[in-house]
Amino acid sequence: MSIQTNLLQVHARITSAAIACQRLPQAIKLLAVSKMQGPEKICAAIEAGQLCFGENYLQAALPKIKILANFNLEWHFIGAIQSNKTKLIAENFAWVHSIDRDAVVAHLARHRPLSLPPLNICVQVNVDNEVGKAGVRLDEVAALAKKILVYRDRICLRGLMAIPQVRADYGVYLASFMKLQTLWRALKKHGFLLDTLSMGMSSDLELAIQAGSTLVRVGTDIFGQRD
Ligand SMILES: *Cc1c(COP(=O)(O)O)cnc(C)c1O
Repeated sequence: MSIQTNLLQVHARITSAAIACQRLPQAIKLLAVSKMQGPEKICAAIEAGQLCFGENYLQAALPKIKILANFNLEWHFIGAIQSNKTKLIAENFAWVHSIDRDAVVAHLARHRPLSLPPLNICVQVNVDNEVGKAGVRLDEVAALAKKILVYRDRICLRGLMAIPQVRADYGVYLASFMKLQTLWRALKKHGFLLDTLSMGMSSDLELAIQAGSTLVRVGTDIFGQRD
């Protein structure tokens, strides 16, 4: 299957999932997760109209960002962040979805070049309290969000991100996504200007959209299996 066909199919899934719950398909952004994929595959996606890409590993991402610099792409960092990598992340990405501590935000703010607009970020939430999984607990998000506001001239808090635990039971799985949406709505009610709920991947984007996702991060179903 070609990347162009795969992208069309993913867009069709987003559209049907949105329509099924009376949402506008345009309200859901598709982030193509290009981790462990070469620039040729990314080029095929660009030719098919895809301009937003997600990467998890900084060292692997930087050469791709450089080679593809002429395309005016929007790069999203979605992987674990080491403090000593924050300068390169702040210089090369438009978004970071994997914020789980205040110190990292401070570093990103300090290193965000003044020539660039504020860095867009999402707080990553460990919505099912899984041991060893990245993200803060649901009950820690509000405090972290408040701290992040200090850096508002260089950092723009856009929303929340999560990777729920995969479950066989559809209802239980959906409930995890719903928890994130409920928290997101509560934060907005308390005055945070959030517009992004980053949830849903290849295997669960329909459930995530049902629970209000505004951005799905899809790798495998666009680029194929990673080696
Ligand atoms: C790899 C990855 C994805 C994409 O996963 P697929 O199952 O390949 O669609 C999405 N989000 C994050 C954070 C990832 O690491």
